[in-house]
Amino acid sequence: MPSPRHTVILMKKRTLAPGTVELTYQREDDGVISYLPGQFFSLDFKYKGEEKSRSYSAVGRVDDLRNNREFSFAITAVPNGAASEYFMNTKPGESAKMSGPFGALTLPRTDPERYIFIATGTGVAPYRAMLPDLERRMQQNTDLQISLVMGVRTPEELIYGDEFIALEKEYANFSFHACYSRKMPASPAGHEKPGRVNVMFEALKPDSAKDMVYLCGNPSMVDDSVTWFTELEFTAKNLKREKYKFSTF
Ligand SMILES: Cc1cc2nc3c(=O)[nH]c(=O)nc-3n(C[C@H](O)[C@H](O)[C@H](O)COP(=O)(O)OP(=O)(O)OC[C@H]3O[C@@H](n4cnc5c(N)ncnc54)[C@H](O)[C@@H]3O)c2cc1C
Repeated sequence: MPSPRHTVILMKKRTLAPGTVELTYQREDDGVISYLPGQFFSLDFKYKGEEKSRSYSAVGRVDDLRNNREFSFAITAVPNGAASEYFMNTKPGESAKMSGPFGALTLPRTDPERYIFIATGTGVAPYRAMLPDLERRMQQNTDLQISLVMGVRTPEELIYGDEFIALEKEYANFSFHACYSRKMPASPAGHEKPGRVNVMFEALKPDSAKDMVYLCGNPSMVDDSVTWFTELEFTAKNLKREKYKFSTF
């Protein structure tokens, strides 16, 4: 059955980092927007007279998804991008069309011993959306381990970093690692490492018998990481991925 397409109105817009904004939409009819943390929606908008469609992961930290009436996502602008230009310039009150939810980058019913979440840039969105659920799971199961590895070029591009750092302080079992490929801060904190996300892979000592690995964001990062983890005998059962592929239309 095709997913219904709803008119949505932009309610809020905020800058997360240079070139990255978070947009929050509500349905025009104020209907419920239901999804599982980790899923994405398709947004349709008009660009230079043509209908375009792009996908965006839900990023909202929603406690009660059954009564949820908002869809938020974070977009990083790319040069000459249709959606980039549209979403950077759209203003609260303007409308778009939305369909979904789609995707299976979701949490299983039963937890592994450890989750390893890996992202580049806005690929961290699904994991931020999972935070209320992950916190509940850590409270119910104090043995559950969670490692989040996020790759960006510079410290300025780290989005939601303060929330992940706060979680690391609150839960001994939650660890956050920020990897900077181009620039390190003058005095790096414990969670800050030079290089791409793969610098953390060896250090985490992944174990396919105990861990569940999630990959999200840049398609080459996802492909390279899949190759790396597959060599350690991770399979589709414990290696989940979402590639932020560019649209061709
Ligand atoms: C399942 C899914 C979920 C996604 N979720 C998100 C999300 O939460 N946040 C988000 O920002 N994006 C997300 N994306 C990517 C998003 O759908 C768009 O592809 C992205 O915003 C660029 O669209 P655009 O119209 O601005 O660029 P386009 O008009 O499609 O492309 C313009 C030019 O930029 C190049 N380009 C496109 N994307 C990139 C890139 N990332 N890096 C370098 N060059 C690029 C293209 O090759 C092209 O030359 C997701 C993609 C998928 C498939």
